[in-house]
Amino acid sequence: MTDDRLRPQHHEPRNGDVIVSVRDLSVRFAAGNSTVHAVRGVDLDIRRGEVTALVGESGSGKSTVVLALMGLLAPNATVSGSITFDGTELVGAPPVVLRRLRGARVGMVFQDPMTSLNPMHTVGRQLAEAVRVHRRVSAKDAARRAVELLDLVAVPHASQRVGSYPHELSGGMRQRVMIAMAIANDPDLLIADEPTTALDVTIQAQVLDVLERLRDERRLAIALVTHDLGVVAGVADSVNVMYAGSLVEQGDVRDVFYRAVHPYTLGLLACSPRLDRPGELVPIAGSPPVLTELPAGCAFAQRCERAVDGCHVRRPVLRPVGATRAACDLVGGAS
Ligand code: ADP
Ligand code: MG
Repeated sequence: MTDDRLRPQHHEPRNGDVIVSVRDLSVRFAAGNSTVHAVRGVDLDIRRGEVTALVGESGSGKSTVVLALMGLLAPNATVSGSITFDGTELVGAPPVVLRRLRGARVGMVFQDPMTSLNPMHTVGRQLAEAVRVHRRVSAKDAARRAVELLDLVAVPHASQRVGSYPHELSGGMRQRVMIAMAIANDPDLLIADEPTTALDVTIQAQVLDVLERLRDERRLAIALVTHDLGVVAGVADSVNVMYAGSLVEQGDVRDVFYRAVHPYTLGLLACSPRLDRPGELVPIAGSPPVLTELPAGCAFAQRCERAVDGCHVRRPVLRPVGATRAACDLVGGAS
C-alpha cells in the first residue's frame, strides 16, 4: 500500500513516452592548455517504462552524458546542444531549475553505495530523511514510507531492516537501499551509473531484477550506464553504444545483441561475459584515442580490423543500417 499524499500529482504518463530527449549534445572540459572533447554530437531518447542503456569502455563519455542531464558537470565543462526533460530545456537552464528537477523528478544511483550512505545512521532514518527533504510529511509517515521503499526494492524483512546500519548490510543490500533512496520521491527518471559494477555476478542479477520491477510496476524511465554489455542483455529495452564521446550504434536491445553491425559493438559483444554465461572479459586490442587530440575520420579506425584508408579520413555519421543505427561507412553501403 502506498500513501498518495507522498506522491507528486501529474497527468497519467504512458509507457514509451519520451521523457528525456538529447540532441547534438557536446561536452568539452577545459584541461590546462587543452580541451577534452568528452561528448561529441550525441542524440538519444529516454522513454518511460523502459530501460535505456548507455554502454562503452571506461572514458567513452557515458557518465558525462548523464551528469549533463542532471546539471552536475564539473565547472570546467562547456555544454552545447539540447537536453529536454519532459519538454523543459536543461542546457543553459538556471541552477534552481536543475536543482528542483533533481530532487523531485530524477533519482540517481552510483557504483559505490558506501560513499553515499551515512555510516552513523540507520538506513530507515536516511530513507525517511530523503522523503522529508522534498515533502512535508510527519515523521511517522516518513518512517512508514521508508519501510515501503525497502519493500519496493525487495529487501527482505523491511520493517526490521530499517533499523540496520549500512555496515550491517551486504553490498547488494546497500545498493538496494541506494535505489530506494533514489526513488523516495517517486521520480520519473532513475539514472543508474554502473550500479552493479562493484557487485558479484549473482548479486548483480538481483539488483538488475529490482530495476526491471521498478520499470514495470512504476513506469519508471531508467537510464542504465555500464561498461559491461553483459549487464544490459537481460534488462535493457534499448542500447546506445558509445566510443570516444560519440554514439557508434543504437537500437533495440535484441537488434543490438543479434544484429549489430558496427565493428566496435561486435568487438564488445565478443568479449562480454553474459550474466547467464559468465566468462573472462577479453578487451578489444588497443586503447581508445586521447580525447584532446582525436584523429581525423572514424575514432575507432585505429583499432578496427576492418578499417580501410577512407576510415581515417571521413568521420562516419550515425544512420539507419539494417535493424540498428550505426556510425560506420563500411556497413550497409556508404551513406
Ligand atoms: P565514462 O563514464 O564512459 O567512463 P566519463 O564520462 O567519466 O567516461 O569521461 C569521459 C572523458 O572525459 C574522460 O576522458 C575523462 O577523463 C574526461 N573528463 C571527465 N570529467 C572531466 C573533467 N571535469 N575535466 C577534464 N576531463 C574530464
Ligand atoms: Mg563513468
